[in-house]
Amino acid sequence: MKNLVILGAGTGGTMMANHMIKKLPKDHWKITVVDQFRTHYYQPGFLFLPFDMHKSKDVKKKGGKFIPKGVNYIIQKIEKVIPEKNTVVLENETLNSDILIIATGTKIAPEETEGMQGPEWHKSILIFIRLKVPKPCETSCVSGKEENWLSILLKCL
Ligand SMILES: Cc1cc2nc3c(=O)[nH]c(=O)nc-3n(C[C@H](O)[C@H](O)[C@H](O)COP(=O)(O)OP(=O)(O)OC[C@H]3O[C@@H](n4cnc5c(N)ncnc54)[C@H](O)[C@@H]3O)c2cc1C
Repeated sequence: MKNLVILGAGTGGTMMANHMIKKLPKDHWKITVVDQFRTHYYQPGFLFLPFDMHKSKDVKKKGGKFIPKGVNYIIQKIEKVIPEKNTVVLENETLNSDILIIATGTKIAPEETEGMQGPEWHKSILIFIRLKVPKPCETSCVSGKEENWLSILLKCL
């Protein structure tokens, strides 16, 4: 039996598991997906949380919901990948892989972009969505009534 190991059950890992289960013969391949969380987060929905357009329950689903039947789903932290041994070390076990897909996402690194931290913040580096719209829009765009960011934005354009 060969092993396909997918690290991460976010968007990429989940899509690959659903794709590969249809491609690989079940009697020759075991597919394993590993993620540290039981919850799958729908990240695009995060944008709408501050404006009450989504509630937190709308962006959180049980991770297993998107993992196809027949895939081995492990909830554990991935410690390290050892490429020369084709192994992945998890908190409590080590996996061998014939094919490894790494889909562990990205992490935010503001320190790597000049201006993201320190005095240039809000001067040379601006954020896209803010309820308090900067001048000269401030008086003309924001009515003071309850509005969502999209309507504010459209009035500002
Ligand atoms: C606010 C926001 C809005 C967005 N809007 C859009 C949009 O409108 N359209 C669009 O196409 N994209 C959008 N994106 C981007 C999109 O969500 C990401 O591109 C996508 O989720 C990336 O998928 P991924 O599989 O690479 O990583 P993720 O979905 O982040 O998944 C990575 C997974 O790996 C797991 N993992 C990481 N490290 C470990 C470890 N050491 N051990 C165990 N598990 C680990 C994590 O728990 C996670 O589940 C948005 C993102 C954000 C944050």
